[in-house]
Amino acid sequence: LVARMRGFGTTIFAEMSALAVRTGSINLGQGFPDTDGPAAMLERAVSAIRDGRNQYPPGPGVPELRQAVAEHRKAHYGLDYDPDGEVLVTVGATEAIAATILALCEPGDEVIAFEPYYDSYAASVALSGAVLRPVTLRPVGGRFTFDPAELRAAAGPRTRAILVNSPHNPTGTVFTRTELEEIATLCRERDLVAVTDEVYEHLTFDGVEHVPLATLPGMRERTVMISSAGKTFSVTGWKTGWVCGPPGFVRAVQTVKQFLTFTAAAPWQLAAAHGLRHELDWVSALRADLEAKRDRLTAGLAAAGFEVHRPEGTYFVQTDIRPLGFADGLALTRELPSLAGVVAIPTQVFYARPERGSHFVRFAFCKKDEVIDEAVRRLTRLG
Ligand code: PMP
Ligand code: GLN
Repeated sequence: LVARMRGFGTTIFAEMSALAVRTGSINLGQGFPDTDGPAAMLERAVSAIRDGRNQYPPGPGVPELRQAVAEHRKAHYGLDYDPDGEVLVTVGATEAIAATILALCEPGDEVIAFEPYYDSYAASVALSGAVLRPVTLRPVGGRFTFDPAELRAAAGPRTRAILVNSPHNPTGTVFTRTELEEIATLCRERDLVAVTDEVYEHLTFDGVEHVPLATLPGMRERTVMISSAGKTFSVTGWKTGWVCGPPGFVRAVQTVKQFLTFTAAAPWQLAAAHGLRHELDWVSALRADLEAKRDRLTAGLAAAGFEVHRPEGTYFVQTDIRPLGFADGLALTRELPSLAGVVAIPTQVFYARPERGSHFVRFAFCKKDEVIDEAVRRLTRLG
């Protein structure tokens, strides 16, 4: 293995899902729903296969999906993207993030990311030979946020880009307009590219609305906006994502993408286009459902003795394990199957400086109510 990838090993999601299977534990670790996406959308994938849409689609993605993505961005956010040249379909948001970093960063460039961050960010930055500059999100009144001075201090002469994930995995924070304005000001002043990971764009609670960074003044022209179908439509196994941005950026990302995968699977693209066009009521119902599940799991975990950070979005809840007498989340999550028959994710693996997050553990609530209830019952044994 090349030196720049040493230390990445096996992802925590693979480790913890394997542990759940091996021990027969309830898996509140890796974030995937235990119910399916909208029936008509699933049917669209099946009919696409039956109708012979089984050969290579065009490199940038099937026109139906690029058009649907552009219409969705316009309808929800008032953002105009030309489906020919400003929208690119990728193999999930993960490929979009990797291809974007590889396309934009020279070795030695710096990329700012808020820690804890989704694990692929550090790996994609390392692959490109760039250097990740973490800015830590810390709980203030229970909600994770950043210190604007720390953000500014992270930007230097080699800073090329900032990765912004909102709604944020794993903390559940949805950046406010004020927070986004801090980020936008820095991007404009330092001429940075913003790479936004908005895969949880529709999963927000309590009336909190997701604001894309690209909608702020001067930001559309410097933002590569990324999302995917997996979370919005409960089809995480479809690995269908998209990039929107100015033509120069999208061309650059496509140049890299064509040699990673050339194109993405056709049937899922057609089905995702159906989803964006016809299933947003289904998504609203999902969002309401998840809000209730959020309340169910946060109440249960609090009763079991965890300190709970109530998420504003995503389907994850961040907990502090110290009130239960534990200090090391990695050690606890490795023991949790034998202690309680439950699997969770140690948040420390999402930090450049793991000691800053060693006392946090993440639980997923995109699960049936009875699964959440049984997990809570088991976790109550810990106290
Ligand atoms: N970004 C974040 C913040 C995520 O939580 C995930 C996990 N689904 C991804 C990106 C990857 O998305 P995809 O499965 O579409 O590659
Ligand atoms: N995004 C999901 C999570 O954070 C899973 C991603 C993965 O398995 N790579 O749990």
